[in-house]
This record gives sequence, C-alpha cells and structure tokens, in this order.
Amino acid sequence: MPVPSDTQAETQTRHDQHSLYPQALTADDFRHNLAAVQARMAAACLRSGRDPGAVRLLPVSKTKSEASLRLAYEAGCRHFGENKVQEAYGKWETMQDLAGLNWSVIGHLQTNKAKLVARFASEFQALDSLRVAESLDRRLQAEGRSLDVFVQVNTSGEDSKYGLSPEEASGFLKELPAFSALRVRGLMTLALFSSDVERVRGCFVLLRHLRDQLRQQAPVGVSLNELSMGMSGDFEIAIEEGATVIRMGQAIFGARSLPDSHYWPEAG
Ligand SMILES: *Cc1c(COP(=O)(O)O)cnc(C)c1O
Repeated sequence: MPVPSDTQAETQTRHDQHSLYPQALTADDFRHNLAAVQARMAAACLRSGRDPGAVRLLPVSKTKSEASLRLAYEAGCRHFGENKVQEAYGKWETMQDLAGLNWSVIGHLQTNKAKLVARFASEFQALDSLRVAESLDRRLQAEGRSLDVFVQVNTSGEDSKYGLSPEEASGFLKELPAFSALRVRGLMTLALFSSDVERVRGCFVLLRHLRDQLRQQAPVGVSLNELSMGMSGDFEIAIEEGATVIRMGQAIFGARSLPDSHYWPEAG
C-alpha cells in the first residue's frame, strides 16, 4: 500500500502511521489539532450529505498525563474517553476541580471494576455481557446514578477484539430493559486494523446495518440511535458510513508511546 498523498488522505486508513501524530504540548497545540480534526469531520459530513452537528467527537486520553488532559480541557475538551477503568478513575479523582468534565469508559470491563465505573463515569461504551450489565446496574442503583451505555459488537471477526458477535446482539438487547440504571444509546465497534479501506469500511457498514435491523425490534426504553465507530486512523470512513460518535486519541493528543497491542492483545 503506497503512502497516501495529502489529497487522497481522507479515504486512507492510518493505523500504521503513528509518526503522523506529533505530541500536543500546549493548549494551542490542542486547539490546532481539534480544529484540524473538526475540519476533516466537516468535510467527511459534507461529502456524505450528513449534518456535522450529528457527529460527536470523543477525545480519547488513555496513557496521557494529567497535565496533558488539563491542556486539552483548556482548549475546550469536556469529555474524555479512557480505555482502562483504574487509570480513568485515578484521573477523575485528581481532576475534580475542573467543572463540567465527563468521563467515558470505552474499554472492556471486568465485573469487579463495575463499582468504580458506577461512581464516576457518565458513559460506558463497551458493554458485552449480562454479568457486567448486572454488576453495573446494581452499583448504579446503590449510587443513585444512571449511565449511558453502548453495546460493543465485534464486526471484524478477530479473536483479539471484544464485543458480541452480530448474531448475539438481538438476544442481548432484549435482556437490557431489566437493568433500569442503564440507558442504552446504541452500538460501538472497533474496525479491523488494516490499510485495506474497503475491509475497514465493511466493519462500519455491518454495524450500521445491524443497528437498522435491531432498531425495528428494540425493546421499549432501548434506543439505538448512536453508532460509536471510527478512530484517528479511520474516522472519515466511519463518518461516511453513519458514525454519530468518533473516538479520537492520537490525532488530538499525539501518538501513544505504548503500542496498540498493550490495549488489544495481538493487534497490529
Ligand atoms: C484508544 C482507543 C481509541 C482511539 O484510538 P486513536 O488511534 O488514538 O484514535 C478508540 N477506541 C478505543 C476503544 C480505544 O481504546
């Protein structure tokens, strides 16, 4: 696969080009990165006939220092996505002084960490088991809180990815009204990590079709309006295929020093 020129960049994936993301070191760096991302989001919306207001940008701050998150906040970020609960909880604890900051947990959860999520998160995007749904609901009831959730679906068929298989999603959704503290918002996926644009696109198309199909039979109280899909390397394709939330780390914060395999065993 040749390195894309700037003019074709928006239709390429960039999973293998982490050096493209310089570190954001000042609030101005963050403003610059956010503006650049928003311009690319707007362009992707324009060419696919979508309203730019219908796509939410979730900055993903995993592995980044508290100082870095504070700069992002200064540049206007009010919502951070984190992959690991312990790390997210620690950041939440030390950043309580920042008004109006919301936390989204976007990585796999073990039931023994549900208690932490119930305490501080406003959104959980990686729901893929009834055991986790049950633990979260119980802890949320105890805290007197509720939580927006996305059901994670494995659209790439890779063993290394979490999430329900597309076939399991329908039965799973039928069980969720039992957990009244969970507000089901939609589906989430991670596409294949590949430079093959059409295979990546296929993952997003699969999630959209699944959502359209499930929406027709969704139980009362389960809304499936949201599609969380797309990250720094593939967000434009995701927007073209209907993403309503894109989860962006490196394009905003700069490259991570840890390889993706640290988060997704066997990725890459
Ligand atoms: C890290 C992460 C992202 C963001 O990846 P970038 O390449 O930094 O944009 C998106 N979704 C999930 C679930 C992640 O863990």
